[in-house]
Amino acid sequence: MTATVVGRFAPSPSGPLHFGSVVAAMASYLDARARGGRWLLRIDDLDPPREVAGAADAILATLAALGLEWDGAVTYQSRRGAAYREALERLAASGASFPCACTRAMVGKGPYPGTCRNGLPPGRRARAVRVRVGDARIAFEDRWQGRQERCLATSSGDFVVRRADGLVAYHLAVVVDDAAAGVTDVVRGLDLLDSTPQQIHLQHLLGLPTPSYGHFGVVLGRHGNKLSKQTRAPAVLADDAAQAAWAALDFLRLTPPADARGAPVAELLRWGVARWPGHEPPRAAMVYDYSGDAAGAAGTA
Ligand code: GLU
Repeated sequence: MTATVVGRFAPSPSGPLHFGSVVAAMASYLDARARGGRWLLRIDDLDPPREVAGAADAILATLAALGLEWDGAVTYQSRRGAAYREALERLAASGASFPCACTRAMVGKGPYPGTCRNGLPPGRRARAVRVRVGDARIAFEDRWQGRQERCLATSSGDFVVRRADGLVAYHLAVVVDDAAAGVTDVVRGLDLLDSTPQQIHLQHLLGLPTPSYGHFGVVLGRHGNKLSKQTRAPAVLADDAAQAAWAALDFLRLTPPADARGAPVAELLRWGVARWPGHEPPRAAMVYDYSGDAAGAAGTA
């Protein structure tokens, strides 16, 4: 069978999976499998300073215990340097990017003020590379958030594609990798909605196809905090797989029966795949106490 849908899960190995990332893995898996598609796994290990030793292997072990079987070999961003360099060269050759000497402090919080857009100020050395946004307005239809439209000049301004430390920026790597893997459907958390316009802009500049995007409401901890390694969200380990799989289905509003708690993961996944078509996951961020019952809805993060 030729699968037309290609989905993916792309965790960063800055720690083991927490419940929020299990939900992201589950949503993208169910979406791809329910449509007879392929589901790929990519480890976004682009940022060695933020990487935690052993995290990538721990992530693979938890996914395997959850029964979330990926197709083909795992892609590691740390091994994709040549593809990123080629994309950076193409952007530079077409004049779409420019070297920038500004420090973070000089740019401040707002959109990039354009300081180096027309050449480096005298005596300054290039640190990063930025891509021009011009007057690009990026519009796309998100599967669950509806129509989105952003003017890049007023949101990010010209944004970084190669960082001052020489590392490739996340937006560029994601766009290059998704296209190389033939990803057709990106399903991920709402926290990444604001990065999508920049990624679509890069697809346009590099002549790459734009996948369909669906951003679902992310999991918030008991106190309304985003689950992250910084807020010490507990790790979901292989031993917790059955409980976490049931809770992820529950969070995604697939309403698994209470007596299926602790059922074998294969059974839970079959159940989720069968119910996914036409399903709407939560649109807004929602508090969920993973170790217990749903704590109810909260506002967006
Ligand atoms: N690696 C990114 C993260 O963990 C996600 C990339 C993506 O889904 O586009 O936040």
